[in-house]
Amino acid sequence: MSDSAAGSEYNGDDFYCDVAIPHVAALQVEHNDEWVLAFHHTRPFWNTHIVVAPRRHVRSLTTVSEGDADLMRRMFVVVQDIARKVEHRHGAASVVTNLGRYQDSKHFHVHVHSGERRRN
Ligand SMILES: [Zn+2]
Repeated sequence: MSDSAAGSEYNGDDFYCDVAIPHVAALQVEHNDEWVLAFHHTRPFWNTHIVVAPRRHVRSLTTVSEGDADLMRRMFVVVQDIARKVEHRHGAASVVTNLGRYQDSKHFHVHVHSGERRRN
């Protein structure tokens, strides 16, 4: 896996559409189906740091609309499954999504993390 494939040099604003989804083979995947992708963050902020994202572009939690209901139901099932595994494995987990200027990549994604913070 090259650094560029891992996205460490990526400076755009949609890592998911531009890097992760077209280059799934370069990721450490936890879940992958036609709707939802979950993988270990390529530049983790925490010791365990998995992100869950819809394959179809949705900008953020606050732009989700009625037409995304099916996709969001599928997202939730995957987030729950990943969160359950991380909680079971480490005894604790956080489930977070960022909005506005807190959201670096403008593609809806949910962070599931546990353990020590690695970087800011
Ligand atoms: Zn996108």
